[in-house]
Amino acid sequence: MSATAPKLRFAPSPTGLIHIGNARTALMNALHARRHGGSFILRFDDTDRERSRAEYAQAISADLAWLGIVPDITVRQSERFALYDAVADRLRAMGRLYPCYETPDELEFKRKRQLARGLPPVYDRAALDLDAAARAALEAEGRKPHWRFKLDARVVVWDDLVRGESRIDCASLSDPVLIRADGTYLYTLPSVADDADLGVTHIIRGEDHVTNTAVQIQLFELLGATVPAFGHHNLLTTASGEGLSKRLGHLSLSALREAGYEPMAVAALAVLVGTSEAVRPVADLDALAGLLDYSGISRAPAKFDEHELESLNARIVHEMPYDTARPRLEALGIGGGAAFWEAVRKNLTRLPEAAEWWPVVAGPVTPVIADAVFCETAARLLPEGAPDGETWSAWTKALKQETGARGRALFMPLRLALTGRDHGPELGPLLPLIGREKIVARLAGQSA
Ligand code: GLU
Repeated sequence: MSATAPKLRFAPSPTGLIHIGNARTALMNALHARRHGGSFILRFDDTDRERSRAEYAQAISADLAWLGIVPDITVRQSERFALYDAVADRLRAMGRLYPCYETPDELEFKRKRQLARGLPPVYDRAALDLDAAARAALEAEGRKPHWRFKLDARVVVWDDLVRGESRIDCASLSDPVLIRADGTYLYTLPSVADDADLGVTHIIRGEDHVTNTAVQIQLFELLGATVPAFGHHNLLTTASGEGLSKRLGHLSLSALREAGYEPMAVAALAVLVGTSEAVRPVADLDALAGLLDYSGISRAPAKFDEHELESLNARIVHEMPYDTARPRLEALGIGGGAAFWEAVRKNLTRLPEAAEWWPVVAGPVTPVIADAVFCETAARLLPEGAPDGETWSAWTKALKQETGARGRALFMPLRLALTGRDHGPELGPLLPLIGREKIVARLAGQSA
């Protein structure tokens, strides 16, 4: 890998299952790396020890693997505190990380007073005026400091890969808290420390992070690190426009996987929805990587519609070769080989639905006899020998001639007798699989 090879990362906090919106972010980063011969880091933002769970981290890795994403390296922030402490010390030494003692109530009071005066509710930096004695007095009261990053009051400009030239006036922001009073880190400092330490070159993430970017760019610069390129993609919402939430378990990848969706359907929809590319079946992740185009990402939120996923999934299943489907069919206890798969796949939205049709072949089917005389005639006219690819047309032609029935009146009594249901895959290809004996028995109303 050359020195200029890109390095990207996906940085979920393992506090819940990831949803399709998170998959959008993960895929964009992983596919960018794949397309340009770079590397992809999975970083667990697990500094919040209370809410982070090893099970969620495992589930996230498994969900990514299901999508076909295998990180080059995986890091856990909970194992990297020494780095964050060192960065915090450097910032303190530069006078850019300062202790503050206000309680949440005091801050709220200040905020209200500013708003009442028509001022923006920006932290007033009162803590910067505290001298050592004042700080000692506050600590003697039992107060523990939280630590704020002293922002440069300047406009930070970056060329966003998605949004183009972006600018944020840091003079209008409160100095962000980097370390809480209990000594735990908020997301910002560990994130920048890691991105700098690991040499991350591109950060693609949701547009809910745009404001963080200005602060983070100031931190990168202060630490003497190369500032990565940033791209902020639109967010996915539910069909009714609600934001997706990990906490609410919205459309988790695990749920979609369990529902039997194809990973490439989920991946293609996650990446292409809300872009200038049509949502369509894509052969594999390499092909999907080839369609990544940040400038084509829309600025409006993208709606995730489960119907769109269903129809995309169905298109993939309808064309799926038997060899691809085979291990999963076998795991579901479905036999019949390629012939069965090809007979039913066009009727499926999701592959596991094949299991609903397998009993039609394997039996026993409880036939529904709508017209006993018609079924007797059908049994008599069934062409001799084991049914094959020609049987259906010869059989129905003979039946039509003898009974005068056509269309639905011809097919429906056969379907009801042979499958016990009023809808389903074309009967012709199923006949050789069902076999003569069962066909005759079912036409006679016997369960077989
Ligand atoms: N842990 C952060 C999140 O889940 C990472 C954001 C980032 O990519 O910098 O939103």
